[in-house]
Amino acid sequence: MSRFVDEFMAELTAKNPGEPEFHQAVMEVAEALEPVLDKNPQYRKAKVLERLAEPERVIMFRVPWVDDKGEIQINKGYRVQMNSAIGPYKGGLRLHPSVYLGLLKFLAFEQVLKNSLTTLPMGGSKGGSNFDPKGKSDAEVMRFCQSFMTELCRHVGQFTDVPAGDIGVGGREIGFMFGQYKRVRNEFVGVFTGKGLNWGGSLIRPEATGYGAVYFAAEMLATRRETLEGKTCLVSGSGNVAQYATEKILDLGGKPVTLSDSSGYIYDEAGIDRAKLAFVLELKNVKRGRISEYADKFKSAVFTACDDGKDFNPLWDHKADCAFPCATQNEINAKDAQNLVENGVHVVCEGANMPTVPEGVELFVEKKLLYGPGKAANAGGVATSGLEMSQNSLRLNWTREEVDARLRGIMKAIHKQCINASAAYGFEGNYVAGANIAGFLKVADSMLDQGVV
Ligand code: NDP
Repeated sequence: MSRFVDEFMAELTAKNPGEPEFHQAVMEVAEALEPVLDKNPQYRKAKVLERLAEPERVIMFRVPWVDDKGEIQINKGYRVQMNSAIGPYKGGLRLHPSVYLGLLKFLAFEQVLKNSLTTLPMGGSKGGSNFDPKGKSDAEVMRFCQSFMTELCRHVGQFTDVPAGDIGVGGREIGFMFGQYKRVRNEFVGVFTGKGLNWGGSLIRPEATGYGAVYFAAEMLATRRETLEGKTCLVSGSGNVAQYATEKILDLGGKPVTLSDSSGYIYDEAGIDRAKLAFVLELKNVKRGRISEYADKFKSAVFTACDDGKDFNPLWDHKADCAFPCATQNEINAKDAQNLVENGVHVVCEGANMPTVPEGVELFVEKKLLYGPGKAANAGGVATSGLEMSQNSLRLNWTREEVDARLRGIMKAIHKQCINASAAYGFEGNYVAGANIAGFLKVADSMLDQGVV
């Protein structure tokens, strides 16, 4: 670590104690930006990086609700409004027991650079709660979402801050939250993205993050005159991003062989085909079941339960060509990264946010894998959210083909920006440096234009 990064990180850590994911996300960016700051002293003088790492606003609130037994439950609610230099705040809401302020600061920080990369005018934010939707009835989820939105609706709005889904927040939760916003504020506006099609949603938004990640992989492969055709792909997660990454891998001729949830993973050597994927969608989105049920249904698959005693995840220890981590942060540790490389994986494309630990990232870059960091590779979700906002403003709905073509065009543009920015600063082929630099420059110049705010 250089002296600059060392000093910067020491100050950041002291100011933000107990937030390891936030430190990890900022450190990766600081390391990539050092040559940019050296070449452009105006950013250092204006303390752009220091300001970027300090949220413009953090909102924390109590979320009381009543469960089906009549007991009062209390959760914590958050919204981190990180940076609005290039547009209104925009970022998802996460409902998961692991949610705390530091986790949302990491996600909001990543979101700022990611949104900048999409080429659309969106600032960055993130929010959520430590509420666990798993095992709750629809009525409980509704009462929680209504209570959460009763407070959050004062702080968001179509021109202020536009939330969307993330882990634990899909169509059901967005419906409940949008309904409560409309009721309390008495206005029907595009305050959320990921809305239902009948009430302002966009075609392709549910698919966009997963599709976009696979489009990004296809772009990376094209630089080596390769395609996804016939490639074996490891996918983790079985939620929104994993489901549609799997679908797009199939569309482009690849062979997905794994899926997971927090209890374990399935390996289906025969491949997860469209009929099997339809079963997963029904299992996860309607029945809200566990991925182990896949192996009960399809005899070609083996289920392996999570084992906390192991220092690696066996999902990443199969022979394959590509890996699409689509579950959660830090799900690929240093040993998993080593296993991936040893098993012949030469494409790692991140549907999830920061799924690889720093040692893993270093290894992928050193071994010259085609490694697409989440900030660039999963930006298709928020980009299509931006397209949903445009359609809401125009009061028009674009066709599926039109939205998909725009998504593909945006993923191409993000890929090109990464390539160009990395080459301009001497990091040819390094998408981590490229994404961080390209995302930073637009935000940094806007911050300079707008003075010390
Ligand atoms: P979902 O809630 O739909 O699915 C998450 C999946 O990951 C589930 O299979 C879940 O299993 C698994 N998972 C979550 N947490 C853990 C954990 N701690 N350990 C093991 N497995 C876990 O979320 P999404 O698919 O929307 O999000 C997945 C990732 O993609 C996240 O990193 C998110 O930030 C990122 N992302 C999502 C976008 C979107 O548009 N939805 C946009 C950009 C990034 P289980 O059900 O058992 O918890």
